[in-house]
Amino acid sequence: MVRVGRRALALAMVCFLVSVRFSAGGAAASSPLWSGVAWSDRQIFRSGLVESAQAALDELPGATVYRIDVEISADLTTLVGHETVLYTNRESCPLGEVYLRLYPNAAGGRAEVSWLTVDGLDVVGFYEQEGLDLRVPLSSPLSPGTAVEIGMDFVVTVPRGSAERYGLFALSDGVLSLDEAFPSIPVYGDAGWQLSPVLPFGDVAVYDASFYIVRASAPLGVALVGTGVEVARDDDGLRQIRTFAAGPARTFYLAAVDGLIMVEKVVGETTIRSTAFANGYPAAEKLLSITEAALASFGERLGAYPFTELDIVANPLLPGGSAMEYPGTIALSRPLYDPHAIIWGSVPASEALEWDVVHEIAHQWFFNMVGNDQVNEPWLDEAVAQYVVGLYYADAYGPEGTRIARDWWFGNWSRVGREEKPIGLPVWGYAPPDYSPIIYGRGPFFLEELESTFGADAFGAFLRDYVATFAWDIATTATFRALAEEHCGCDLGPQFEAWVYP
Ligand SMILES: [Zn+2]
Repeated sequence: MVRVGRRALALAMVCFLVSVRFSAGGAAASSPLWSGVAWSDRQIFRSGLVESAQAALDELPGATVYRIDVEISADLTTLVGHETVLYTNRESCPLGEVYLRLYPNAAGGRAEVSWLTVDGLDVVGFYEQEGLDLRVPLSSPLSPGTAVEIGMDFVVTVPRGSAERYGLFALSDGVLSLDEAFPSIPVYGDAGWQLSPVLPFGDVAVYDASFYIVRASAPLGVALVGTGVEVARDDDGLRQIRTFAAGPARTFYLAAVDGLIMVEKVVGETTIRSTAFANGYPAAEKLLSITEAALASFGERLGAYPFTELDIVANPLLPGGSAMEYPGTIALSRPLYDPHAIIWGSVPASEALEWDVVHEIAHQWFFNMVGNDQVNEPWLDEAVAQYVVGLYYADAYGPEGTRIARDWWFGNWSRVGREEKPIGLPVWGYAPPDYSPIIYGRGPFFLEELESTFGADAFGAFLRDYVATFAWDIATTATFRALAEEHCGCDLGPQFEAWVYP
């Protein structure tokens, strides 16, 4: 994400039963692609990965697999569907329950789950945190290495023009933006299930790399843009049915957009698609060349972009949020496409457009490939992304580009008088006005400090190894430091004390 917003969530631990049984959901009459396909069969995901990334299909044993069948209503405000998830316990202890996160209940909408089953048997689930979480009890503890199949019907109500979560989960100006819309299993970490509340600012997605097949039925006339690649399409004269396959990926994003134009460019094995409002055509075109340059720069420095598609979609985001990263997909705020607009009070939109899209492209490495806890250790994706945006600017514009990037960082950090507040706090460790200046402004200077400690070439080698080592895994401040110290053969304690630790 770029920038911050404002929202308050009251947290009451109200629990209530899931007791309503909806009639069986399901998007369409024909059988989905996965009918009769083994959970372990990952062939459908191959076309979404560039050749060098396809080895991941044979790795990641036990990665969660989602199969989602969803029908989007004619007015684009209701989703009715069925989801089946295969979850494998990859921890060292037995699990007595599994959680599902229902973000619409904390984003101005509504998500209800019914007909909940575990391995085909009906179970009763319990909503917690005002419906943000659904606890799914297991009749017997799930042993390490064993899997469970969780099935559910769901109904999701999407707000119109929501003021929550930057407007990322909303229908507005003909764009249905489905941020974290589907029930998803959180990470199980050292402290148990990661069930952070949704905060007024910062990102929320903390997931293991997973595989998604999503069959979406929608009215004809809207374009569906989603994470992954389209693997099947069908129209019955009234509705369109599109099936997307994605993975490994941290989450699944889908947008249904009305009246937008699309331009695309094939670069190597990857197709870049840029979707915009009709008057945003010049910016949509410009985004293709910026993205091509960013993929080349990051590909060279960090390792190849893993997917065969990268979608950029114009989105009527609210002020306070200008862009958002998803695996293989980026949502960009509509004003960025207006060459006459001024963003954040002083920045010409054309400059913000380049910065923002490159920042979100950087998240394809730091958030999607190398996962982290975006709530508890946001510097690991945001500050690192800001730093590598600086590398892109250096590659694109030489020393002048480095100056431009440092001006961005300094300008942001200066909003809090360059306060030397640690960058390693959880999101809730910052007051809303401090979060962006410290994480996005001060944060990249810590990476620059490490670069000067290592030397540019050695730090570049470390970053590349960091991506390779933690690809599709989850890194932490501790593992980042340990690998960095292995590379430099030095003690980075003083640097982490000065910049990161509370
Ligand atoms: Zn970001």
